[in-house]
Amino acid sequence: MRATFAEIYINNFVHNLSEIKRFMKSGVKMCVAVKADGYGHGAVEMATAAQNFGAEYLAVATVEEGIELRKAGIKTGIVVLSLCNPCEAPYLFEYNLEPFAGDEDYIDMLQKSGGQISNKLKVHLAVDTGMGRIGCRPENAATLAKKICASAALTLGGMSTHFASADGTDAKSRSYARLQFERFTKAVESVKSAGIDPGIRHCSASAALIDMKEWQLDMVRPGIIAYGYYPDQITRAYLEQKETPMDLKPVMALVTGVSAIRPFEQGESVSYGMTWTSEGETDIAVLPIGYADGFLRRFNRNEVTINGKLYPIRGRICMDQCMVDIGKNNPDVKRWDKVVIFGPEESGALCDAEAFAQSAGTISYEVLTSITKRVARKYIR
Ligand SMILES: *Cc1c(COP(=O)(O)O)cnc(C)c1O
Repeated sequence: MRATFAEIYINNFVHNLSEIKRFMKSGVKMCVAVKADGYGHGAVEMATAAQNFGAEYLAVATVEEGIELRKAGIKTGIVVLSLCNPCEAPYLFEYNLEPFAGDEDYIDMLQKSGGQISNKLKVHLAVDTGMGRIGCRPENAATLAKKICASAALTLGGMSTHFASADGTDAKSRSYARLQFERFTKAVESVKSAGIDPGIRHCSASAALIDMKEWQLDMVRPGIIAYGYYPDQITRAYLEQKETPMDLKPVMALVTGVSAIRPFEQGESVSYGMTWTSEGETDIAVLPIGYADGFLRRFNRNEVTINGKLYPIRGRICMDQCMVDIGKNNPDVKRWDKVVIFGPEESGALCDAEAFAQSAGTISYEVLTSITKRVARKYIR
C-alpha cells in the first residue's frame, strides 16, 4: 500500500451523529447527506454507519450514487437532491430512490419513466424559496402537488426547500433565511389548503438544524456536521457562546509519509518556478502526495504534522509530490515516518481540514470532496 491514504474514523462519524441527534427534537427524522461519495469518505461505509445508527433517510446527488447504496444493501429511504435526466429516471423506480422535483415538465418526465413498475414513486416537491437552484415558486406549490397526486406513477412523499444563508450569523443572512422559511411555510399551507397531505416537510441542512431548532419540521438533512466540520459561521465558539455547545470530531485524516530527506545549501530552490529558495542550510523532506490526490496547489502556505510537530510546505505542490522544510539534521524526522496533513486529534494531526480550507479561501466541504480516488480509504473502527 502507498504511503498516502485517508484514514476514516467511523467512531467519530457515529459520535457526530449522536451529537446531531442530541440537537434534534423528538419525532424528527434524520436524513444524512452521503452525496459525493459521502463527502469523500466513502458513501457505502458512511451510509451503512448512518443506517445502523438509525437514520431513516440518506441523501445523494445522483441516481448512480443511489444505485450504489441499494446494491450495497442499504434499506433506508434515499432522496436524490439534484435533477436527473430522462435516461436516469427509470432507475428511480427500479431502485426506489425519491427525487426532488419542482417543475411541471420534470414531473411529466418522471411520470413517463415509470414503465411497467406498479409501485408509486415518492416525489419530494422542491420549493425554491430563495436559493435559486431547483424548485417551484412557492405560489405554484399547490398546483404541482395536485399534479403529482393525480399521476398514476407518482405520489407526494414530502416537501422541501434549501437555505442560501443559514450558515451566516450576520443580520442579512439571518433575515434572508427567515424569509425563506416563511415562504416555505406558506407553500406547505397552500398544499394543505388544497386538501393534500404534504408528506415529510424538510428544510434544514447542518446550519439550520443546529441553529434554528424550530425549523426542523419532520426531517433534517445534515451533511458536513456528520463529517466533523462546522458550517461556516456556525462555529464551535459560536455555539458555545449561545450555550448550545456541539462537539464535532473530524472523521477523515489525510496521511502520507516521508519518501526522502535531502540536504539543501543556502540559495537552492525547491519545485516548479523556483518560488522558494533556502535562506541557509536545511533538510527538505519529500512527500508522495500532490494535487492529483486532492492536495491542492493552493495549500502551499500550510504546514503538515510529523511526529507531533508542524513543518511548512516549500515551493509549489506538484501533481504527485510536494516538499516540506524539516530543518537541518532534525532528529525527529526519519525516512518513511508518518505525515498527517489534516485530521482528528487521534490521527496525530495538529491541523484540521478547516485550517486548509481557510488558508486557501474555500470551505471544508471542498477540501474533503477534493480527495481523489487514488487515495485509498482505510476504515478505522
Ligand atoms: C448538500 C445538501 C445538504 C447537506 O448540507 P450540509 O451543509 O452539508 O449539511 C442538505 N440539503 C441539500 C438540498 C443539499 O444539497
